[in-house]
Amino acid sequence: MAKIGINLSTGSLQKEEIIVGIDLGTTNSLVAIIHPETKKPVALKEHNSASLVPSIVHFGSHQEIVVGDTAKEFLISDPANTIFSVKRLMGKSYNDIRKQSSFFTYKVIDDDTEKLVKIQIGTKFYSPVELSSYILKELKTRAEHILKTPVNKAVITVPAYFNDAQRQATRDAGKLAGLDVLRIVNEPTAASLAYGLGLNPNDSKTVAIYDLGGGTFDISILKIQDGIFEVLSTNGDTYLGGDDFDRAIVAHWMKELNLGEADIESDKTLAQMLRVAAEKAKKELSSSEEFTTDINGSALKISKAQFEILIQPLVDKTLQAAANALKDAKLGINDIDDVVMVGGSTRVPLVKNSVSNFFQKNVHDEVNPDEVVALGAAVQADILSGNNKDFLLLDITPLSLGIETMGGLMDVIIPRNSKIPTKAGRQYTTQKDGQSGMRVSVYQGERDLVKDNRKLAEFNLAGIPGMPAGLPKIDVNFLLNADGILVVTAKELRSGVEQTIEVKPQYGLTDAEVEQMLLDSITNAKDDIALRALVEARTEANQLIDATENFINKNGKLMTTAEIEETQAAIIKLAELVKSGTKDEIQHQHEVLNSISRPYAERIMDLAVAAAMKGKQI
Ligand code: ADP
Ligand code: MG
Repeated sequence: MAKIGINLSTGSLQKEEIIVGIDLGTTNSLVAIIHPETKKPVALKEHNSASLVPSIVHFGSHQEIVVGDTAKEFLISDPANTIFSVKRLMGKSYNDIRKQSSFFTYKVIDDDTEKLVKIQIGTKFYSPVELSSYILKELKTRAEHILKTPVNKAVITVPAYFNDAQRQATRDAGKLAGLDVLRIVNEPTAASLAYGLGLNPNDSKTVAIYDLGGGTFDISILKIQDGIFEVLSTNGDTYLGGDDFDRAIVAHWMKELNLGEADIESDKTLAQMLRVAAEKAKKELSSSEEFTTDINGSALKISKAQFEILIQPLVDKTLQAAANALKDAKLGINDIDDVVMVGGSTRVPLVKNSVSNFFQKNVHDEVNPDEVVALGAAVQADILSGNNKDFLLLDITPLSLGIETMGGLMDVIIPRNSKIPTKAGRQYTTQKDGQSGMRVSVYQGERDLVKDNRKLAEFNLAGIPGMPAGLPKIDVNFLLNADGILVVTAKELRSGVEQTIEVKPQYGLTDAEVEQMLLDSITNAKDDIALRALVEARTEANQLIDATENFINKNGKLMTTAEIEETQAAIIKLAELVKSGTKDEIQHQHEVLNSISRPYAERIMDLAVAAAMKGKQI
């Protein structure tokens, strides 16, 4: 099919609907497309202006909204109504960000600590999703203005560590902005696409993507083979970036000016002035040796050497994460063929040199590190529009997903580090005769008991027709789609009763929490195994008690009083041990009860068989 291209300079129309790539960054956002003539990704910008739109939203005195550079000017003069770094709040509760609350110069409401955060502007409350949608709407409007064509479809990137809640929030923001979000793509995956790594189907490479932006740090190890991108491992820190470099400089200056925390707590304007000056200093020190400025009449200075001492611990932290990512991928430094630098903060010479030293090779920094993610999103958009069919993108899920089974045990359905998209399922049955519903509780985490994991969702599969315990066949299926969003389906096969939910967790996990969950699972592995064995012994004992009691109810007439009494005593003892006994005690009593009931059970079964035979009159 012939395609009519768009001429960027004249803005003439094209036939095919355009799909844009959007990097919705913590600090800066931008839009890119595949240039219809050169077929190369380009960042959209208006004449003489930058492609980057600061991810900042300002509310005027009548709640009128401006986004980008204009909003950035209000950081100092009107901090309470100027929202920056809203991406850090996506899918978060106040508890999640409590420790960072002093970072925000606007009002993040804290009266309901468990719910998703809201931001208060004057008398109105805004969610991070709404605030992000203003940024996306601005990007959409700009793109439409530049391309002179409606823009309704987009691919949006997110950090690799974004969980379901954060991805869903990003998707919702797109929807609110009037965009059909065709795909949520991990930023490192987009960056490697922008470098064209693997575009030649014969390429076979292992690539490290080091992304240090304003607010997040991600390191990802990708294996590219046969035109397939597979994320081998990801690591990073959603609270580490260029903002922390700025804060290190601010802290340095505060010491020089004899200012305490209280001084900047009470004077938000001063805090913002210091923040803005610090960022300016940092950027200048990427290409010069010294920076000087003046704040409220006090001279401020910092040298490149001083700056490097301040940020060395932060850079070291990123290298430690890189080492961990290699370890997770079971690779050594020599296995990495290419290293890709992403994010504005990789312009800092110390960062670039440290990463280069760590991997013992030259790093890729040819593509503008601020734009590389959006450019890759445009490449992905092009693949989705069918122009580039040879690609398949694979990602991995960082934590196991499963459901609660008897006794509060975690039954893993999709194990951690599974490639996504992925599908997996297991069959379950009922425990009680005539049971008409089954609760399906979905958890995320590595521990054996669900109470130690994170609950994502719960629903009740109702309307199972009455059947004896064990007869219904209930298929529980997990579909983790390419955006990392989980769809859970439960279906009773005999009746066809079915229920589906899309998991939208109430709020998200930071990557530090993900790490902690993984660490906990290792530290507690021994305890977990012992506990699991105990829980299983209890569950089996309860099942035996139920079955035995049922048997006596039905067949009591065929039993002697002595048999009934002996059995009931054994049941009582077993029930007590279920409450307070050890696994071995429970299993021993389980056997005792079995051996008491076995002789009469066999006798009665024989009678039943004989009766049945007679009835049939063979
Ligand atoms: P994000 O992905 O978080 O939106 P970006 O990739 O746009 O972030 O990077 C923004 C960060 O890069 C900011 O902290 C900014 O100060 C920093 N930055 C931009 N240019 C430079 C530079 N020349 N030297 C050092 N840091 C820079
Ligand atoms: Mg970024």
